[in-house]
Amino acid sequence: MRTAPTCPRCRGPLSPPIPGWSAWTCGVHGDVSPLQPPRRPCRESLEAVRAVARVPIWVPWPLPPGWLVTGFADAGDERTGASAVAVALSGPAPLGGSADLVIVAEEPGIGLGSSFAGLPGPDPGDGFGVSAPAAKVEIDGHPVSMWAVGADTAAFAGEALANWLWAVLWPSSAGVLMLEQLSLRDLREDELDLPYGALCPRLEA
Ligand SMILES: [Zn+2]
Repeated sequence: MRTAPTCPRCRGPLSPPIPGWSAWTCGVHGDVSPLQPPRRPCRESLEAVRAVARVPIWVPWPLPPGWLVTGFADAGDERTGASAVAVALSGPAPLGGSADLVIVAEEPGIGLGSSFAGLPGPDPGDGFGVSAPAAKVEIDGHPVSMWAVGADTAAFAGEALANWLWAVLWPSSAGVLMLEQLSLRDLREDELDLPYGALCPRLEA
């Protein structure tokens, strides 16, 4: 497992900041929020993410049947807090086999969600907000629209609490899971008895 922070957009190596003066820098993407090594799926990791998160820690609740929480990732440092948080989940795919789902909340311009979706820019891009939404999730009893934005995979983007909300699924056929209008809860606020599985390899990519 990697131990040094990487670029949230390309997973490339970063130059560390000069204290008090500069930011973490990617040779391709310039100043970025450093993506910390993935955190193992357990309660201690959740507490660690809670301590730094400036954005929601979204999890579908109730979980789809048979699904487990399979890791966390966050971008930022102690000084700034985490401006992006990813929660990984894994479980049976609706059409057979197993599937992974990564849900990201992030401030605009960070690029963690778009990196999972395989998009070139840090934000959702052209597919976002045009035509009818492809899916909805429910947050605090309100529907939140999400648009299909992925090129090669099932990726959906929307806006919640002034942050980007991303849901990316593998294989792409698992995207039908989003038709079930999942209800999302923010783990910063809710104590849920989460079932944990093994670390999702998508977070290590
Ligand atoms: Zn980069």
